[in-house]
Amino acid sequence: MEFSLIAKHFTRATPGAVLGVGDDCALLAPTPGMQLAVSSDMLLEGRHFSPQDSPAGIGHKSLAVNLSDLAAMGATPRWATLAIALPEENDAWLTAFARGFFRMADQHGIELVGGDTTRGALTLSITVMGEIPPGQALRRDGAQAGDDIWVSGVLGSAAMALAYRQGRLLMDQIDAAKVLPALYLPTPRVALGIALRGLAHSAIDISDGLLADLGHILERSGKGAHLAFNALPTLPVVQTYLHETVARECVLAGGDDYELCFTAPAGRRDAILAAAASANVSISRIGQITAEPGLSVLAADGQPLPYDKTGYDHFAA
Ligand code: ADP
Ligand code: MG
Repeated sequence: MEFSLIAKHFTRATPGAVLGVGDDCALLAPTPGMQLAVSSDMLLEGRHFSPQDSPAGIGHKSLAVNLSDLAAMGATPRWATLAIALPEENDAWLTAFARGFFRMADQHGIELVGGDTTRGALTLSITVMGEIPPGQALRRDGAQAGDDIWVSGVLGSAAMALAYRQGRLLMDQIDAAKVLPALYLPTPRVALGIALRGLAHSAIDISDGLLADLGHILERSGKGAHLAFNALPTLPVVQTYLHETVARECVLAGGDDYELCFTAPAGRRDAILAAAASANVSISRIGQITAEPGLSVLAADGQPLPYDKTGYDHFAA
């Protein structure tokens, strides 16, 4: 596509790269001795965002969900590439998109070093690269029996906002305004992931719902877990809707939280709390890893809470 479009909207100074946008390839020099963490995420109009969504918000979210994967690994963000398909060359849309994208990039010290631009249905594919000292990545397969299970921030807000927008949950407008930012402007927990290096046994970011994503840790680690429903952190406004099945499902199995779920030895609670404080993020202890497989959610009375939705399945009807 027009080189002037790329020059105007996607070319910035990249002091952290040997060579950024403009040649056949970017040239990157990883810090000697560090490992590269690499991840891609695609966002499609109609599936991950809708045509009316603000382009600055789409720019923010498309990079935020990718940064969330680096956070879940404990990696320091370094470089990104952006492949974008656009139905038409819309200067106002691109200007706003780039504003949201680069604001998020600047907050986390990640540099856009290349990509591709083509005509087509609006699609964004971003690849992020980060660095991590060997052996310190927060993998999914390290959970051990007896580990505490922790989660950052609050759960369910984004899923409740989506349920509201889709008419599956009736909410007061003032209440809806309190959950909508979680859906459109998620915060990747980059500083927390880095602070948890060497402390957490395992970690994942919650993109498809707590139960589904914790389930990935359990499967990869060959373990089980108990969760206490009452310990799950939510916004106060979410609490007021928990009598609704839809709202409970949003907390347990809603997507788009982009919080970190991680496990750590019970003996390291003080260190974990100090790491979260240093990253300026609230965290909650929500359960425990068990040697026996299976995932149970306990209600306040200690009885198992029945649930049938483990998360958002992209291939479900
Ligand atoms: P090529 O034909 O070699 O693939 P392109 O014309 O696609 O080159 O891209 C020219 C330069 O602009 C390359 O350095 C490429 O990485 C960069 N680029 C293209 N699209 C984007 C984009 N959306 N964001 C960032 N860089 C881009
Ligand atoms: Mg190209």
